[in-house]
Amino acid sequence: MAVFPPPKRLLLGPGPSEVPPRVLAAMAQPLVGHLDPAFIALMEETKRLLRSVFETENTLTLPISGTGSAGLEACIVNLVEPGDEVVIGVNGVFGTRLVEVATRAGATVVQAEAPWGEIVPEDVLAAAIARARRPKLVVLVHAETSTGVWQPLEDASRRAHAAGALFVVDCVTSLGGCPVGVDRLEIDAAYSGTQKCLSCPPGLSPITFGPRALAALRARTRPVQSWYLDLGMIERYWGEERVYHHTAPISMNYALYEALRLVVEEGLEARFRRHRLNHEALVAGLEALGLTMAVAPARRLWMLNSVRIPDAVDDVAVRRTLLDVEGIEIGGGLGPLKGRTWRIGLMGESSRRANVTRLLDALERTLPRHGLTLPAGAGVAAAERVYAQADAR
Ligand SMILES: *Cc1c(COP(=O)(O)O)cnc(C)c1O
Repeated sequence: MAVFPPPKRLLLGPGPSEVPPRVLAAMAQPLVGHLDPAFIALMEETKRLLRSVFETENTLTLPISGTGSAGLEACIVNLVEPGDEVVIGVNGVFGTRLVEVATRAGATVVQAEAPWGEIVPEDVLAAAIARARRPKLVVLVHAETSTGVWQPLEDASRRAHAAGALFVVDCVTSLGGCPVGVDRLEIDAAYSGTQKCLSCPPGLSPITFGPRALAALRARTRPVQSWYLDLGMIERYWGEERVYHHTAPISMNYALYEALRLVVEEGLEARFRRHRLNHEALVAGLEALGLTMAVAPARRLWMLNSVRIPDAVDDVAVRRTLLDVEGIEIGGGLGPLKGRTWRIGLMGESSRRANVTRLLDALERTLPRHGLTLPAGAGVAAAERVYAQADAR
């Protein structure tokens, strides 16, 4: 049987993002047992680092074994009992997925819908909350990776609490790339993923539950529908009791710990500034090439850039050339945006000046091969001007 040598790629899609060598090296370390005192010490450090990245004091802050969707499902199934009303903002793939998971958990879902590519507006959310009689949860996706939209949370948090509901946020793509601030925004429960702005391979889903969410968990009248994702049981392993529930993915936890160390070493503020600057340089470059962003300027995510695909070019063919010839992965659109947008991820380690200019340079070569006339050199030059301005500040 042949070995598998992965091709060399630059990952600038919607995730996974580039993984720093230190994180890859951590994964190659020898295993210890999942109840080894050394591993328990690592678990404690990981919880501490996760709290600082989530910006929370929440005791119940830990990585669920599974990708971001496992964190999503954990938040829903631990907080929802059959018959509970749940308000969910739906303006992309992940809002849609939340509706599906909540419905399967027996919730009565009230959707606050908005077109893909736009935020869920305050009045639409308010109307949905009003339609529900006694909503238990209000759930929003902070960074809609399927569209590139940055959802504001302040007003929603206030409205959720005024209605007596818990405020739950998907921060899979935002955590580590832009401010999330769980305690500042009074988010009751949040989940993330490792392979977006934390730049760790996919496989763990950090979650955090605040006091109100914890009270709702303790007050359940029925057992959590999922045995594997039952936080009461997971807590007994990750908390002081150290009771076996499932075998923690040891190597993934090594990787997450190292990835979190990198985040904390850089500092959250510096990391957010880096994501913002590289986003601004990329947008300047794309626009100088005559391309159009798909999201209104005030709503654009720094880590996921949606670009309109020009009518003249074939979506799949361009992405194929980028991959085969340039070694660069970008993402295509999903749902109603399929064939209409490209999604360029500048997440975590991928958000680097050299990657922005390499992609723009590659697009300047690739798009003309697919029939689009471009002002040659304009993209890289426009991005460099943004960097020069930042350097001068
Ligand atoms: C990626 C993502 C998820 C799901 O994560 P997986 O790791 O693919 O399971 C959920 N929500 C958002 C916003 C995401 O970007």
